[in-house]
Amino acid sequence: MMKLEVLEYPNSFLREPTEAVNITEESLIEVRKLARAMLDTMYADNGAGLAANQIGNKQKVLVIDARFVGTKRPLVLINPKLTWKSEETSIMVEGCLSFPGIGFSIERPEFVSFEAYDLTGRLQKYNGEKNPVLSRVFQHELDHLNNILMIDLIDDVELQKSTKENFDKEAV
Ligand SMILES: [Zn+2]
Repeated sequence: MMKLEVLEYPNSFLREPTEAVNITEESLIEVRKLARAMLDTMYADNGAGLAANQIGNKQKVLVIDARFVGTKRPLVLINPKLTWKSEETSIMVEGCLSFPGIGFSIERPEFVSFEAYDLTGRLQKYNGEKNPVLSRVFQHELDHLNNILMIDLIDDVELQKSTKENFDKEAV
């Protein structure tokens, strides 16, 4: 177990540009270690996904496990890219390990497809057309690599509501 500290908003590192991984055997050895630490951290904090820049690493690496219960099914995504998004959108409450205890209602395309390199250096394609949870988590995590945070995607009314709900929850 190698649980790392997750950087929390407004840590400025979350706004610093990220860098693509060179897909070479050498760099993949390092990414494997990074991914292991990211997964340990994500599972320890009950997250569904984590971006490398949330633990202070600039590389374009994500880990995702869109199943919240049951068997672990981790995905490691290197240099991920969105390849398709549905026209229909949905609104879901999202959490973020960089905003502990706060949920924001966010509207996004309901389904997306994407591609990314895996830990063996192969480009893999993921079809999210029937998987709203994976589609949702992927979009949230990809945003991190593009320095976009949940508060950038909501209006002032929603911001106020989310903050207040959180405040009430903590007060109980
Ligand atoms: Zn997040």
